[in-house]
Amino acid sequence: MTDRRPIDLLRELIELESPTGHSEGLRGVADRVVAELEPYGGEAAFTGDHLRVDLAGKGEPLLLLGHVDTVWEVGTLAGMPFRVENGRAYGPGAYDMKAGLVVLVEAIREAGKRRRAARVFLTADEETGSLTGRPLIEEAAEGAAAAFVLEPPTQRGNLKTARKGLARYRLVVHGHASHAGTHPDEGASAVEELAHQILALKGLGDPRHGISVNVGVVRGGLRENVVADHAEAWIDVRVTHAADVPKIEAALARLEPKDSGTRLELEGGFTRPPLERSPGSARLFEQAREHGAKLGLDLHESASGGGSDGNLVGALGVPVLDGLGAEGGGAHARDEHVLLDSIPIRASLLARLLIEPGL
Ligand SMILES: [Zn+2]
Repeated sequence: MTDRRPIDLLRELIELESPTGHSEGLRGVADRVVAELEPYGGEAAFTGDHLRVDLAGKGEPLLLLGHVDTVWEVGTLAGMPFRVENGRAYGPGAYDMKAGLVVLVEAIREAGKRRRAARVFLTADEETGSLTGRPLIEEAAEGAAAAFVLEPPTQRGNLKTARKGLARYRLVVHGHASHAGTHPDEGASAVEELAHQILALKGLGDPRHGISVNVGVVRGGLRENVVADHAEAWIDVRVTHAADVPKIEAALARLEPKDSGTRLELEGGFTRPPLERSPGSARLFEQAREHGAKLGLDLHESASGGGSDGNLVGALGVPVLDGLGAEGGGAHARDEHVLLDSIPIRASLLARLLIEPGL
């Protein structure tokens, strides 16, 4: 890549460490993007650390969604500094999604005055489920003709028109403690009860219909010679179809203890509804494929098991095209990186969509 500007901006954004909740870093990244968009008439407004920038233009606005937070704690940079090696740029948040922010900025620059009206929304708590960003994202989606999401593409650079919905639950089992040797009958084991519940939870999964239930964390008990009075499980639930959301919720609400001496307590719920492929998103993809072909990209459409803010917008009926960020790999891992050559190409792809979205 001969043009230094995107690399320099990427470096700056990566070196502003911005884990969810770290206001100083989140603001630093957002302010940097605001400065880049200013020459294009961007009007910026912050709510907390969430940023919305309205860019005047023709037609119903196109929503550009990204996030400024990363999963990397402050101080990560010291052991995982920004570096370029073999055309790859490494560093915390490089792929998810600081390079996506660079693609966004470069696309707006490239599209110039020919683009449609646009609305940029950068969430500050995407990595923890956009709990505070959600109402603002939904507001930003009002009246939008389409949403383009700057999350990373698949490993092969493909775009995403569908994503699973995601719920997180914590199941707490309250039992009754007793001496395991002298008075086992007086106790009710929360650990044993949880074992039954884990199998029941597993039974709610239905891979053929895109429903998965994963008990990822279990904790419980005090010592081996005590009947456990407490145990808990942290559960990840994913569904492909919106119609399955109430079914799963109802099934979880129906869980009952096998041992009547124990009691169950369930907290949590869906943080993101499923993003189902819609006729609108299919049209956006088709348009992107045509634009991509002119740029030498052979784009394919795919579905993702992970959620994004695109899920929130899709649920409102706005056509969503996701995975428009830079190519790379290692999201949330130590070898997180982006392919530098992909940044200008993906920016050109998005610029073309901003001019001619196909809707
Ligand atoms: Zn992301």
